[in-house]
Amino acid sequence: MNAIQQAGQKGQVASVKLLINGEWVESKTDHWQDIINPATQEVLGRVPFATTEEVNAAIDAAQQAFASWRQTPIQARMRIMLKLQELIRAKAKDIAKVLTAEQGKTLSDAEGDIQRGLEVVEHACSVGTLQMGEYVEGVARGVDSYTVIQPLGVCAGITPFNFPAMIPLWMFPMAIVCGNTFVLKPSEQDPLSTMMLVELAIEAGIPAGVLNVVHGGKEVVDLLCTHQHIKAISFVGSTAVGTHVYNLAGQHGKRAQSMMGAKNHAVVMPDANKQQSLNALVGAAFGAAGQRCMALSVAIMVGEAKNWIDELVEKTKTLKVNAGHEPDTDIGPVISTRAKARVMDLIDSGVAEGAKLHLDGRQVKVPGYEQGNFVGATIFSDVRTDMRIYKEEIFGPVLAIICVDTLQEAIDLINANPFGNGVGLFTQNGATARTFQNQIDIGQVGINIPIPVPVPFFSFTGSRGSKLGDLGPYGKQVVQFYTQTKTITSRWFEDQHDAGGVNTTISLR
Ligand code: NAD
Repeated sequence: MNAIQQAGQKGQVASVKLLINGEWVESKTDHWQDIINPATQEVLGRVPFATTEEVNAAIDAAQQAFASWRQTPIQARMRIMLKLQELIRAKAKDIAKVLTAEQGKTLSDAEGDIQRGLEVVEHACSVGTLQMGEYVEGVARGVDSYTVIQPLGVCAGITPFNFPAMIPLWMFPMAIVCGNTFVLKPSEQDPLSTMMLVELAIEAGIPAGVLNVVHGGKEVVDLLCTHQHIKAISFVGSTAVGTHVYNLAGQHGKRAQSMMGAKNHAVVMPDANKQQSLNALVGAAFGAAGQRCMALSVAIMVGEAKNWIDELVEKTKTLKVNAGHEPDTDIGPVISTRAKARVMDLIDSGVAEGAKLHLDGRQVKVPGYEQGNFVGATIFSDVRTDMRIYKEEIFGPVLAIICVDTLQEAIDLINANPFGNGVGLFTQNGATARTFQNQIDIGQVGINIPIPVPVPFFSFTGSRGSKLGDLGPYGKQVVQFYTQTKTITSRWFEDQHDAGGVNTTISLR
């Protein structure tokens, strides 16, 4: 691979390259971080924290490439995306293996991560109809008005560790197909699979400078947020960093959007289909070891549904904790030893604060992978809203259960939570579902769907504390995010000699 310099000698590890102006560049930095397999602690490679000069060079390359890229016919841009989707599809299984090794999720979930990103690339192929302007003929005598939807210039994307395929693919394909150039800053924890996708994008025909990649942490991100040539920043990650990015970029005159942390609830009504609902709860709470921004972290059992808790616990006990590449694994490791320590601390806090522990994942042992960052599925009930396990995003396989008497209590509880990413309702009653979707103040609602991540023709519409900025990260909304509208009012005189008279008013006649 070009994006990753393979180890030459024994004892060396592969190093990840920067992509600047179409060249794969070995960073000159002296700050590197190991990329670690969370199931084994094996070092898979190392990633540079790019120098200021390197970040500036990437942005300058993108700035220079913009002049010709924006003039490239829209069909030519779409055709590159058509090729890219073909290449990703062909390589999906290879990318999934690397993704599982560096991120920990199961192989089938890694394939899902790539598939959801691939769907955004497919959608990018229809930008011709998404980037159309409007035209009104005859707004005054001989005068027409129309809009053109133009790219912004250099845009940047900053991505988190939990979806190293899907989230980069939310960003650069749509930005680039709209005529922008791009600087991507992948997660430093698992950049290998992202770089495989970037390599395919170059193979698909994205010209030099149109897509650039820099690696690093806060310093690199801050440079992107403050550089004069960057016009828009799309961020996905934690609430603390997303808020910082949104504010810093805004202070420097950039358009910004931040998709951030969450605490997603599911409401289970007593009239729900029990088996379907419990299966959905288990999958959404513990899949990807709970490391999804749309993971289910709180189940609210309404009325008699409280009697289903034991069965939920029994179903959860059947989940297999193991390395993601092992067959039949349900729960892989969490991303790092630090993440594991945080999840363990939160489980400890739940016990200390008096929640009832039904299933304890703290002692899980995985034969053959004793060093892995494993946490088993953990279930608490009797959870109060003042407990840390309710208030904080755990980002681990931990489900908190709260029992209430009515749907209205459930709605009020959820609406009082500061986050607004996703919510689910399980019921067989259409009127209940309608009331819920109308009253719930959460941006993405699933009715008998546990993880309602919208498909790419819509957009990701998290709300309140889970999002800053009006527009979502893909779909129609992101075309608005990555473009600006220019309105043109034109008059063509039919008669060369019709000079009209001087008009000192503001009206068009
Ligand atoms: P993170 O905020 O730690 O990192 C995200 C990005 O920000 C990375 O590229 C990282 O290098 C960079 N970064 C880290 N610290 C920084 C700092 N101090 N200043 C500037 N940049 C910094 O997030 P993560 O741990 O990689 O991802 C998990 C989080 O992402 C969870 O909170 C999850 O809910 C959230 N997430 C949200 C969505 C969504 O769509 N709402 C999707 C996926 C993940």
